[in-house]
Amino acid sequence: MRKRILVAGGAGFLGSHLCEHLLGAGHEVICLDNFSTGLRRNIAQLKRFGTFSVIAHDIVEPIALDVDEIYNLACPASPPHYQANPIQTMKTCVVGSLNLLDLAARRRARIFQASTSEIYGDPHIHPQVESYWGNVNPFGPRSCYDEGKRSAETLFFDFHRLHGLEIKIVRIFNTYGPRMRPDDGRVVSNFIVQALKGEDITIYGDGSQTRSFCFVDDLIDGFIRMMASAPSLTGPINLGNPGEFTIGELAERVVELTGSRSKIVRRPLPVDDPRQRRPDISLATQELGWRPKVELSEGLGQTIRYFDELLSRSDRKVPESV
Ligand code: NAD
Ligand code: UDP
Repeated sequence: MRKRILVAGGAGFLGSHLCEHLLGAGHEVICLDNFSTGLRRNIAQLKRFGTFSVIAHDIVEPIALDVDEIYNLACPASPPHYQANPIQTMKTCVVGSLNLLDLAARRRARIFQASTSEIYGDPHIHPQVESYWGNVNPFGPRSCYDEGKRSAETLFFDFHRLHGLEIKIVRIFNTYGPRMRPDDGRVVSNFIVQALKGEDITIYGDGSQTRSFCFVDDLIDGFIRMMASAPSLTGPINLGNPGEFTIGELAERVVELTGSRSKIVRRPLPVDDPRQRRPDISLATQELGWRPKVELSEGLGQTIRYFDELLSRSDRKVPESV
């Protein structure tokens, strides 16, 4: 059945892949974005679908639309971007979520929240299970994002309890792939762009901290399964790839796959940088039949090809902002 689906943050990295998937499945998609980190080029090719439309709008302002389902992906996800304007980040997470929840309540629409592994902060439980409440600094430089996303989960559950709203919350662990910005600032895009340009590869700290990297196609499959699940399944549910790597190992893997001659250099570790992160995905496997399929080298290969093509185009003077 064709649905009218709102994707807030639809011009971003994950949002553009989600829009493309939903359009391919025959739905009508409205992409709502303030283009703070999202790019018009991410969604340019989606105009071929007659059922795609774009609204330039900041979710901090209320909006009235007629929709059947809402995905809330609107929020900068990269630490340098969300820390650049922390008050706007907090407003996006809290006031923005509130506006979308109000819209969902008025339309009786099912609503999905892109939450995050940052909910767990610098975790004392490893791997992270959904029942763990986390270890989060409430006033550090990462707090606008971590606490903003925690407050958003609170609001989603209050709307569910008070208004019977159908909510779907996923906690996303580090995801990468084509359509990340070259200046996104997260580790996978940084390392690949540095390697392709022959610049120094910047490891923050000693590189022994760990992350688990999920390829974008696997994550979007998890989103779709979650949104289609029974009303009783609210989440939160972890979505991520349980393969765990040190940042040093990631740097070596990128150098190997790109054949780069870049040097690996050390830079100071950012404040409150989590030491380790790996999702326990038992719940996603049990409830959604989901598990990631794309191995790190394969996903990195696809991402390297994307950036290689993009950088050779930007040599031919394609402006970064489009
Ligand atoms: P992204 O920065 O590429 O995309 C975010 C999008 O939201 C951009 O298009 C941006 O312009 C838009 N946006 C930001 N603030 C907005 C506002 N106030 N109003 C309207 N639009 C706004 O990031 P991404 O990696 O695609 O992340 C998408 C979502 O998934 C975010 O909510 C993020 O917190 C969550 N998430 C992502 C990851 C990951 O690894 N990619 C991990 C955890 C959570
Ligand atoms: N990181 C790094 N070099 C970079 C960018 C990030 O060593 O150029 C590290 C960062 O300190 C963190 C890890 O890589 O330990 C993942 O960082 P990212 O910003 O991608 O995601 P997050 O910290 O939100 O998990």
